[in-house]
Amino acid sequence: MIQIKNVLVLLESEDKGFKLQRTDIFIKNGKIVSLGKAPEDFFAEKIIDGTRKLAMPGLVNAHTHSYMTVFRNCADDRSFEDWLFKYIMPLEDKLVAEDAYWGSLLAMIEMIKTGTTCFTDMHMHINQVPKAAVETGIRAVITRGLAGETLADGGQRRLDEAFSEINNWKGEENISFMLAPHAPYSCGKEYLKVIAQMAKENDLGINIHLSESLFEVESAKENFGMTPIEYVDSLGLFENRTVAAHCVNLSENDFNILKEKNVSVATNPASNMKLGNGFAPVAELLKRGINVCLGTDGAASNNSLNMFREMGFLGLIHKGTAKDPLPVSAADCIKAATANGAKAAGLSEKIGKIEAGMDADIILIDMDTPAFNPFNSSISALVYSAGGYEVDTVMVKGKILMEGRILTTIDEEKVYYKVNEIAKRLGIGENL
Ligand SMILES: [Zn+2]
Repeated sequence: MIQIKNVLVLLESEDKGFKLQRTDIFIKNGKIVSLGKAPEDFFAEKIIDGTRKLAMPGLVNAHTHSYMTVFRNCADDRSFEDWLFKYIMPLEDKLVAEDAYWGSLLAMIEMIKTGTTCFTDMHMHINQVPKAAVETGIRAVITRGLAGETLADGGQRRLDEAFSEINNWKGEENISFMLAPHAPYSCGKEYLKVIAQMAKENDLGINIHLSESLFEVESAKENFGMTPIEYVDSLGLFENRTVAAHCVNLSENDFNILKEKNVSVATNPASNMKLGNGFAPVAELLKRGINVCLGTDGAASNNSLNMFREMGFLGLIHKGTAKDPLPVSAADCIKAATANGAKAAGLSEKIGKIEAGMDADIILIDMDTPAFNPFNSSISALVYSAGGYEVDTVMVKGKILMEGRILTTIDEEKVYYKVNEIAKRLGIGENL
């Protein structure tokens, strides 16, 4: 049982924004049991002084590829085609399963240190990310990337792997799953239909990249006579709860489909900027009541997994591109990184808010830091001035993963050593 005493808590307000309230948080068996008043049989085994801290829901990274941290900073300032075909894809071929384990542990170090408590991951090497997540205690939505023109062309094998991974880890309470057709251009038509059907039969959500580049949209129109969104909708994919990553180029009909089918859009501003793809029309998506969540994408295309940096980008780019400071507010950014991400992951009953009955996925932010001073608006500070390294304490389901900025479940030094060995083996590591 944990009591966080006298802490400033970020709560949703009636106007759908946020408010701050100083109170105590009581945590028992991994859940928030009460705010303010101790329940009758409550005996605090640990008391955390929250006097100079802000408590908020742990951030939810709605789209990443955690193992790709091993490719961080190795192919920058190149054209999209060079980046993908000359560098990233040949490197992917050289990776072995264990590399994905160490790469995802590196991702978890970065995520925990910058306040992320849950992430949706698309990967290629099964069992490595859930293994690292269970050891670490972070919450993860695991999705094995599915690609193939037909079932015979590797499609069935990848689908079998996805289900074998699900069976191996489904007993873990912090791990959940979705099916992840990589994109309409990397999966054949029949394959996408089978995936849609399998998702339905097994009550699994869908995690997919959609309409990331103009080239993708033009090719879909040429090949299928439809936009990527119209195309996957026609195959029944959106009959399942879906998170669509990117959605940079949307037609009027695309907006209507996303809204009607309740699709969540995971926007990844840094990745879209780095690869020169543009931005998702977030202001318009919000205006139409579409669930917008926030992701970092993988470290090969970001190059960081820091959701504070991502919130800052989200808040600023739409002001800059619209030449209007109003379209996306600080509260919109916080919501995208918390409750909306939880909804996209199918976890809104458990996480995304600090409220009695929710799981205790909480981060404490040190307010004795420049970004939060003077105390003019902590909500602004979270988006516009914080860097992520103000996060002091992180817990997932009441388990402390970082306290006083010290990680409690990961041996950082060992992970740095291992990922540098991998980078050297791949021929991308600097010889320092
Ligand atoms: Zn991605």
